[in-house]
Amino acid sequence: MKSIRAVKGTRDILPPASAVWNHVEEVARRVFRSYNYQEIRTPIFEETGLFARGVGAETDIVSKEMYTFEDRDGSSLTLRPEATASVIRSYIEHRLDQLPGLQKLYYIGPMFRRERPQKGRYRQFFQIGAEAIGSESPAVDAEVIEMIVEILSCAGLEGSQLLINSVGCPVCRPKYVARLREALAADAPRMCEDCRRRVDTNPLRVLDCKIPEDQPIIDALPSILDCLCEDCRDHFERVKTYLTDRGIGFELKPRLVRGLDYYTRTTFEIVHGALGAQNSVLGGGRYDGLAESLGSKVHSPGIGFSIGEDRLVMSVEEARPGDNGPQLDLFVAPLGEAAFRHAGILARDLRRRGVTVETGVDARLKRAMETANKLKARWVLIIGDDEIAAGAYSLKNMETGAQETVGAAELYEKLK
Ligand SMILES: [Zn+2]
Ligand SMILES: [Zn+2]
Repeated sequence: MKSIRAVKGTRDILPPASAVWNHVEEVARRVFRSYNYQEIRTPIFEETGLFARGVGAETDIVSKEMYTFEDRDGSSLTLRPEATASVIRSYIEHRLDQLPGLQKLYYIGPMFRRERPQKGRYRQFFQIGAEAIGSESPAVDAEVIEMIVEILSCAGLEGSQLLINSVGCPVCRPKYVARLREALAADAPRMCEDCRRRVDTNPLRVLDCKIPEDQPIIDALPSILDCLCEDCRDHFERVKTYLTDRGIGFELKPRLVRGLDYYTRTTFEIVHGALGAQNSVLGGGRYDGLAESLGSKVHSPGIGFSIGEDRLVMSVEEARPGDNGPQLDLFVAPLGEAAFRHAGILARDLRRRGVTVETGVDARLKRAMETANKLKARWVLIIGDDEIAAGAYSLKNMETGAQETVGAAELYEKLK
């Protein structure tokens, strides 16, 4: 019979690799907590309309990559391609806009996009992200960026680079788009098919084009930073000042824009490694208009980001090769029925004190030692009838090979 395999574009995350995932998520949770963010868990599927409105019907994500299906009652549901729309939907639905102060929410979980499979891209992928909703202050932007830098460095990712830009606001961006369109009117005929189409549909997205031949043309296009209104310019200056205060280096990237109307002002991306844009670990920015576009009656400016956890894990693995996951502290080798029963209780008590213990299931000592070796146990404890009677066990240090007799009472101290 033909065996069943994981669906194309999905994958299993097995030990020891799963330990790096645990590490990254533990670090993220710890850092989020220290900045007073709390976890939000939204459903994995939503009404399709949420993403059409919240992510943008014109985007590739919504038009080509969503997992949309018809439910039995005929309604259209979609596996979430990202989490921000869901978080804002939840924020509005539960009237969080009525609560005082900033709402600082984080999430960790799987997202789904039907992308063309390629290295490092999966159809079920994971994101770690956060949203700070309820303030326009540039101080929030700087704090969010600082928190991200903290997460990445605590996770063990070094040498990443922060790119920032301002995409303006509904007052100034239309002027930039008009200038862009004007400049593109002359250049577009020499550009790729996507760019030619985008001149009409969404000229900002021309800046995202990855076709090498188009790059010199794109580099010569007007910069949005020259078109910012006074409020936006002031906002961006303050973000930069606060980042500098914190010793956070950045590079201005005027081409870093998002083709969605609700994105405003600060936009950022962190790239890692030599591959440039291919290695973007995370992106984020302000979305002051999103809540209103999803039906909020209250102006709820926000800023958020999402880290591609798959890529982050890959980068962390590269940064610390040879990490084979968590270690086994103790392997208990019981030699006979009485010893099995004794070992069960002993193992339980040590586990309660935080020791990682594996108990053998084979009463033959040679087999038990082989297993302990394979599991890379730091210590092996041998328990036979004599040991139980004496209340002392034979403890072997697997690194040095030294063996000693240890009483039940001093065992924990010895292992620590
Ligand atoms: Zn503006
Ligand atoms: Zn192009």
